[in-house]
Amino acid sequence: MKKILITGAAGFLGSHLCDRFISEGFHVIGMDNLITGDLDNIRHLFPMENFEFYHHDVTKFVLVSGKLDYILHFASPASPIDYLKIPIKTLKVGSLGTLNLLGLAKEKRARILVASTSEVYGDPLVHPQTEEYNGNVSPVGPRGVYDEAKRFMESITMAYHRHHGLDTRIVRIFNTYGPRMRLNDGRVVPAFMGQAIRGEDLTVFGDGSQTRSFCYIDDQVEGIYRLLFSDYPDPINIGNPNETTIKEFAEEIIALTGTDQKIIYKPLPKDDPSKRQPDISKAREILGWEPKVSRSEGLKIVYDYFKSLSPEELQKKEHRDFSAR
Ligand code: NAD
Ligand code: UDP
Repeated sequence: MKKILITGAAGFLGSHLCDRFISEGFHVIGMDNLITGDLDNIRHLFPMENFEFYHHDVTKFVLVSGKLDYILHFASPASPIDYLKIPIKTLKVGSLGTLNLLGLAKEKRARILVASTSEVYGDPLVHPQTEEYNGNVSPVGPRGVYDEAKRFMESITMAYHRHHGLDTRIVRIFNTYGPRMRLNDGRVVPAFMGQAIRGEDLTVFGDGSQTRSFCYIDDQVEGIYRLLFSDYPDPINIGNPNETTIKEFAEEIIALTGTDQKIIYKPLPKDDPSKRQPDISKAREILGWEPKVSRSEGLKIVYDYFKSLSPEELQKKEHRDFSAR
């Protein structure tokens, strides 16, 4: 049985990756320090023989005994609100955490795939974003703690690949959404859904003309799965190219939820990218991958998921006190 270590396993993406690799017959070691994740996302895997969980901070030395075939490094706060509250931890997990996992991969001769992001393109001057575009990021702006950590992650991963011949993969993930996101993690999908469920007005930042392109979780997981088993070491975009303005997106959520909320406008956060859309030609060509789930289908699934939670579960999804961790 092939063994895979998934860091960030109790988070949104990590927990769905754990499900996928368990269903494909892997032995999965999930690792997480629970800073933004939740054990409830993987509790259903605990009774399974081929699942283990290590409560561990990957910025500290990572020890895994025995053989290891693959590593997926997904540990990192991912929402702007989260990483602005814990900026130094965000820089550390992208840098020191990645270094530890590359070292582990080298020791075990394991293949490692690291989770990078469309944020490496910053506020892009090329649209849609191709992998060749080097980005427009402010190293000293507030989002620099995330963006530059991920850019460092890519650099050190390529250095291990070139210098040590390590078998590496880099996925540049574009805005992905789905069940298990925290209602108050600050990202726009749970933010708008939570507001709709609570009967509050939807908060659009700026004038809402900024664009994003939203990918449903199952499509994202399929792209990552295919990339891991490809032989392509350079960064690759995985995302849904269907672009929308945030104002139109808010209107779509209001229509979907059938509520009569209004849109209210709040200041645009500093360095909020004005546009974002992946060019997925490489993913199509090299991985034979493209997204299958439309935004309306995906949003309906997520809305039904949030609606199905009990008031206690909803409240838990909203709670996050970083000072306690
Ligand atoms: P998430 O916050 O739900 O999950 C991240 C997980 O990492 C959490 O469970 C958290 O507790 C864990 N973690 C953080 N620091 C850690 C540390 N030092 N040691 C161990 N565990 C740690 O976020 P997500 O949306 O699931 O994102 C997962 C990964 O995908 C991140 O690396 C993120 O940068 C990347 N990504 C996500 C998106 C997206 O749209 N969801 C987009 C681009 C990139
Ligand atoms: N956004 C918004 N209202 C909210 C939360 C987010 O208008 O309540 C906007 C945000 O300014 C950004 C877009 O939605 O332009 C996507 O934000 P998110 O935090 O989901 O992701 P990112 O900015 O990292 O792409």
